[in-house]
Amino acid sequence: MKYFSTRNNCLKVTASQAIARGLAPDGGLFVPEVMPALTQSELSSLCNLHYRGRALYIMAKFLYEFEKEELESFVNAAYGENFYHPDVAPLRFLGEGTAMLELWHGPTCAFKDMALQMLPHLLTASLRKNGERREVCILVATSGDTGKAALEGFKDVEGTRIIVFYPRDGVSDIQKLQMTTQAGNNVLVSAVAGNFDDAQTGVKAIFRDREFEKMLDGRGFFLSSANSINWGRLLPQIVYYISAYCELLKANRIKVGEKVNFCVPTGNFGNILAAWYAKEMGLPVNKLICASNRNNILTDFINTGVYDRNREFHTTISPSMDILISSNLERLLYALSSDVDVSNYMSQLNETGKYAVSNEIKEAVNSDFAAGHCSDEDTKAEIKRVFKEYNYLMDTHTAVAYKVLRDYRQASGDMTASVVVSTASPFKFAEDVLDALGAKTGYESPLKALTEATGVTSPVPLDGLEKRPVRFSECVEKSEMLGLVDSFLS
Ligand SMILES: *Cc1c(COP(=O)(O)O)cnc(C)c1O
Repeated sequence: MKYFSTRNNCLKVTASQAIARGLAPDGGLFVPEVMPALTQSELSSLCNLHYRGRALYIMAKFLYEFEKEELESFVNAAYGENFYHPDVAPLRFLGEGTAMLELWHGPTCAFKDMALQMLPHLLTASLRKNGERREVCILVATSGDTGKAALEGFKDVEGTRIIVFYPRDGVSDIQKLQMTTQAGNNVLVSAVAGNFDDAQTGVKAIFRDREFEKMLDGRGFFLSSANSINWGRLLPQIVYYISAYCELLKANRIKVGEKVNFCVPTGNFGNILAAWYAKEMGLPVNKLICASNRNNILTDFINTGVYDRNREFHTTISPSMDILISSNLERLLYALSSDVDVSNYMSQLNETGKYAVSNEIKEAVNSDFAAGHCSDEDTKAEIKRVFKEYNYLMDTHTAVAYKVLRDYRQASGDMTASVVVSTASPFKFAEDVLDALGAKTGYESPLKALTEATGVTSPVPLDGLEKRPVRFSECVEKSEMLGLVDSFLS
């Protein structure tokens, strides 16, 4: 199967080329030329497999160039002992016809692990298949979850290095500790004086610097990114939607062929797009509900067909969803229109910060997607309510989705069995969760305080986090970022 760019469907590449390159040379994103089908009987037989077997079967459909043994070793390494739940991505059933799909049992306690534990294997194999001899250096600017997940994925992976810049002002204390205590011999972590935008701008400038690129090439290095535009990050995410459906069947919550809803806390549109791909393959899905926080640009887009980034950016208690440009939306638009349309929309977005899709596209979007958003106040109230009612603790991102699903049901009367995608452990955002529960303040350790307030134990990877030695305490100015990369790669 070939892949092509969302902005030019004459440009065809292999799967390994798509993964090795990340972004298409015309600025578009790589998409598979056809969606492989998943039949009802295949789906039924996947129910008998472990998560690893499901991942192997589904990923193989998209990766013809990879040997079965090769993929099997990736799947075993990515979803083995590094996950702290035997089912990898378990469901938890609450009342109200709702299941929680917990995607945070990996090493960093957020759903990014589902993809970033797999990506290094896919990427290094793809580079090898394409004759790349230089060493890849992954360069990341992070608002929190991606940086740590990328560090855990790439630490000590042969032939790779990884550098993560995080904003000094703008990650939670736990997120910061997770990164500054990172283990591994090929890793570098640094704070940047400023906010996420400063870190991001600095990294983009390094990527654009052709002189620097040439110099690194001379030393046998090249730079790459690990963000969610890479096909190698999207593909592993399709698996857990199909796996969740199997778990619903196994638990007799649905009948064979019955449709379900998924409600997804959304930022860059990667996670929910994977759900849409699963539906395109044949998974019985009724509606995908796109949940946003106060940065509700996607709610507006889905409800009006107009994408308009000319609006204020809000900092919220669900920071991984604080996004104004949802890059992966481009892949959906492409699937619903053409490369010419997508190129037009993207250049309008560049020039005016805005585009409006045709009526046909809007109708197609609305037949598969619903959308809603939720304020910080409502998010906190939902954490408290669900904990009281079900003794179930949600993080701030998951709570946005839970509330949006409840609103959707009330407004639409659609009572289809639904899965809320749970994207982070509540302990990762312990301070805000404690605040939501109205717990007493003035604690020394937020992790301990959350356990004391709820009786829930914190995830294994966070055990002893507050006592681990800090390895990376450096904070650089934006202008000093390039120098730091330069010295790390010399
Ligand atoms: C990244 C992230 C999201 C948003 O996912 P997208 O794929 O960017 O839509 C939601 N919740 C958490 C906890 C995240 O880390």
